[in-house]
Amino acid sequence: VTIAILKETQPDEKRVAMIPAVAQRLAHLGATLAVEQGAGQAATYPDATYTQAGVSLVADRTSLVAQADIVLAVQPPPLEVVQAMKPGSLLVSFLYATSQPDLVRALRDQRVTTFAMEMIPRISRAQAMDALSSQAALAGYYAPLLGCVHMQKILPMMTTAVGSLRAAHVLVMGLGVAGLQALATAHRLGAICEGYDVRPETREEAASVGAKFVDTGVDARGAGGYARELTAEEKAKVRTVLSQHIAQADMIITTASVPGRRAPRLIDAQQLAGMKEGSVVVDMGAPNGGNCEGTKAGEIVRVGPVTLVGPTNLPSCLAAQASELYAKNILNLLQQVLHDGVLKPDFTDDVIAGTTLTHDGTITNPAIRQALE
Ligand code: NAD
Repeated sequence: VTIAILKETQPDEKRVAMIPAVAQRLAHLGATLAVEQGAGQAATYPDATYTQAGVSLVADRTSLVAQADIVLAVQPPPLEVVQAMKPGSLLVSFLYATSQPDLVRALRDQRVTTFAMEMIPRISRAQAMDALSSQAALAGYYAPLLGCVHMQKILPMMTTAVGSLRAAHVLVMGLGVAGLQALATAHRLGAICEGYDVRPETREEAASVGAKFVDTGVDARGAGGYARELTAEEKAKVRTVLSQHIAQADMIITTASVPGRRAPRLIDAQQLAGMKEGSVVVDMGAPNGGNCEGTKAGEIVRVGPVTLVGPTNLPSCLAAQASELYAKNILNLLQQVLHDGVLKPDFTDDVIAGTTLTHDGTITNPAIRQALE
């Protein structure tokens, strides 16, 4: 099989779907690889590193894609890429199907098989393929560093000849993969850390990275290990407890998300107005509507005493290693479907079935088919 590695086209995207070292391992599965010129440049992998790894360079994207059996990308590719793909070929990338209806229909009509990386089931066997987790871990690590840049305070306690500076208070709201890494980073930098989530099992996870858990007395465990939406009564109870912790914080990082919904609102305008002068909120829910009232995706805004940061692509800020982990997620996925250089997906396998969005002229995911057809 021939595998094509695309150059990303989204303006804020520095990642690349496959790095040279992992490409060599794909070649061992019997694949021939080609990369679009300049694809890895922004992620610290110049063209020469690909040619040294046995990957050929192609300048013209259309001919690269037209010859490929498998096309790899990070972001959903442009429509013209899909239209250039061979019928029966495989696309592996993030798709976000419900926000890309035209692209999904084009994949169906082109008879392309699509593996949507965000649809990899969150089960133990698929952990090594779970790109949402690998990217969220890096994004979570980076969020407190970004917050520090917008603060006029340091995180650790510091003793100086003219007296001591107090350690900063960091509150992380939403303790999934990203939130736990954010807490761990803030703790390592010397902050006094608190974590909050609606899933009670996160109490111990917060403790394991050196943080105290904010107990609101509400349990919102939902299906499949994710959170469910809160009732109005529960929301009011939580708000009262959280307001005190929000007012004490020098930095807040929010990561809360409920699958398929807009980001839950965790900080409202009144709570924001009650924060300390010069405090910072890094809202990782920004691409999905924001966890904090007033967040503007892709912008840094001042709201009363607070600097509100709304990053839209944190993994791209760590493109070298985000690409490395993403490439390994893809390698582990392709190992399931490539046998002696032949592409043979087993659609009865849970992981493959769960990840497949389109195949053989149909949208195979029932929920997305219903939404789009
Ligand atoms: P996510 O990005 O969907 O959500 C982030 C966090 O926000 C979650 O912890 C969620 O509980 C929390 N949240 C939702 N509503 C909230 C609210 N109103 N207030 C506060 N917090 C709120 O989560 P994720 O990082 O993708 O992972 C979610 C879960 O899935 C975790 O339990 C994680 O351990 C699990 N997981 C399992 C696997 C696996 O087994 N392979 C892989 C990844 C994640």
